[in-house]
Amino acid sequence: MNMIKLANFLRVYVRFTIAVIVLCISDDLFSYGEGESGLTYRISHAYPIIKKVIHALESCRKPVVAALLENAKGEHLEIALSCHYRTALKTTKFGLPQVKHGLIPGLGGNEFSTEMAISIGLVDEVFSSSAEAVDRAVAFAHNLAGTFPEHRILRNCFMKDAAKGEQLMTKYMSALSTKNEKAWSVYMCLQTTYAASFLSFEEGLKKESEALQFLISSAQFRALQYVNESEILASRWKFSDKFNYQTVEPVQVRKAAVIGLGTMGSGIAIAVARIGIPVYVMEFNEAVLKERAELIYSTIRRMSLRKEITETMCNSMISGIVPISDYSMLKDVDLVIEAVFELISLKKEVFSNLNAVCKSTAILASNTSQLDIDDIASVARDPGKVVGMHFFAPSHRMKLLENVYGTYTSYQTISTAMHIGSLMGKVSVLVGNCHGFVGNRMYLHYMTESDFLLEEGAYPEQIDTTLKEFGFTKGRFEVADLSGNDVIYTVRNGTHPQKKHGKRHRERVRNGIRYCPLADILVESGRYGHKTDGKGWFKYVDRVPYVDENITQMIKSYRESHDITPRTIHFEEVLHRMLYCMINEGFKILEEGMASSPNDIDMVWLHGYGWPKSTGGPMYYAFTVETKKQMVASECKKFKFCHTWQPSVQNAILMLSALTKDATALPTLIHLFSE
Ligand code: NAD
Repeated sequence: MNMIKLANFLRVYVRFTIAVIVLCISDDLFSYGEGESGLTYRISHAYPIIKKVIHALESCRKPVVAALLENAKGEHLEIALSCHYRTALKTTKFGLPQVKHGLIPGLGGNEFSTEMAISIGLVDEVFSSSAEAVDRAVAFAHNLAGTFPEHRILRNCFMKDAAKGEQLMTKYMSALSTKNEKAWSVYMCLQTTYAASFLSFEEGLKKESEALQFLISSAQFRALQYVNESEILASRWKFSDKFNYQTVEPVQVRKAAVIGLGTMGSGIAIAVARIGIPVYVMEFNEAVLKERAELIYSTIRRMSLRKEITETMCNSMISGIVPISDYSMLKDVDLVIEAVFELISLKKEVFSNLNAVCKSTAILASNTSQLDIDDIASVARDPGKVVGMHFFAPSHRMKLLENVYGTYTSYQTISTAMHIGSLMGKVSVLVGNCHGFVGNRMYLHYMTESDFLLEEGAYPEQIDTTLKEFGFTKGRFEVADLSGNDVIYTVRNGTHPQKKHGKRHRERVRNGIRYCPLADILVESGRYGHKTDGKGWFKYVDRVPYVDENITQMIKSYRESHDITPRTIHFEEVLHRMLYCMINEGFKILEEGMASSPNDIDMVWLHGYGWPKSTGGPMYYAFTVETKKQMVASECKKFKFCHTWQPSVQNAILMLSALTKDATALPTLIHLFSE
């Protein structure tokens, strides 16, 4: 029955013949990810009708029971909320995901978490078997026949914690500001929920509708729609009509292996076991193997304690990860992922060993972050079976997987790597074989530019603050301290810092290109970051970064020793240079065909490097930058939502600044809004 018929049915027939109504809500009524136009169309055309249905359901004088099957999310749940009672399956998943799409629930629903659905009394009856769900819901409804559930109508209910509204608002606002949240939908959701604590139902709905209208015409909504579409597009790799994600079958992986159980290999083994594939794990000696396997098992147990996985899953993952010490055990595996140290000689040695034992159909993947896949494949019996599978730390959690194809990688090998990534729930992006692939290649420019800025007059805290204000979760220097400044030193100099000690390189031009050795000086002074007692670009107390006078002094002395007169660098220059250097490299990557679309580059940065989702990614941002200021200014004028503020540009600036709870954001906002 379509929505209009349902509304008429509720209006006319219910009055006479029907005692109770059971509305079965399954998850095929609406879905997300259809693109901006689909969602926008739905909101502008379907929402007015759905609102009528909701009103008819709510005001129906006979009891209405929603039988929630499978997923009860978004608009489905909002319709269910307008029913007087709700039944669900044990496995039903609840949620209002609109916020992730840059919107808020706009049909009268409030925010709550999936886990809380049962405990907050949202559901009246839970059934375990889907086969009997509808019959049991009907039986439940029959018991209500003859009653008029006025007290169950949502608009007649009061918010439980209404009196604590302001207090809760402050608490959540500060949590969002700690997380450096920049998505307006999140703040709007909080505002509408808060508004519900002191406004009448009708006034609350009006606020909600205003907020939705604001969001739907915002740049953030467009960016988030782009992100959702790009996530889907990333998996649809295509070389030709003959060879693409639809035509090339992946190899069926029944058994896998991971070589090297350090930071990356351990997480990869967990990710493989989690998709139900038994996995052999290897280290270079027995003692390390035993220790690392135990660490893996305890990580899995912690996942179970945190309820990320069930106990059954925990046990099967642990029994599925089998430590081995001999290559001969690998003769029947279908996929091997190597994650040993980043040394080409070692990688080649491992691949030669694999070559000697693995069956000819086995796919051999390397987790290298930048080495040449063709060079690694040169020792393989069949280079077509060699592929890069570049995971990101922590590899069982991070959503990005860069799959790297070399000159000889077969389509079937590509298909398998992409398939495994999607089974793991990752955003798998297929990229070409160039130094650093897509992510690290661009990241290198980002780091280099930040060092030039230090040389010219900026300081680490200024650069990191600017980046965080833009929306990065962590700044460039904080990230380096976290992952280890020594690691990138080794990449830059081709040797470990301890070997370099005493032979300091201080050149400002390398291979004919501008070079800044400040990061080398830092590492050679023993400041690797967190791993060296929290001393890096910052000093850390409880892992919180603080400005270190020694670093300020180090930078000043460096400038003096090179006769560099520092200048004041405006935050805007910092932001532009930090972002545009990467974007430029992104365009080069596209020109060389190392990524098949700007969307793919954006997915790498969003899911691997903490680029703020609400700006779409570096390439999307570049396309919007021309019109960005005008867009923000015009959006600001539309910004009428918050009841205590007048809809003027100045007030919107103040409000956004208050929302971010970040005083340093004020200059940026004033600047953006006043142009
Ligand atoms: P790591 O030093 O933490 O771990 C490497 C492991 O390999 C060690 O446990 C070591 O004992 C083991 N190993 C060394 N030689 C071996 C051999 N012959 N046989 C079996 N095991 C051996 O390093 P990591 O950070 O896990 O990096 C591993 C790979 O992943 C590298 O290629 C690195 O570039 C890449 N990578 C690292 C990151 C990261 O953030 N750390 C991210 C992406 C990719």
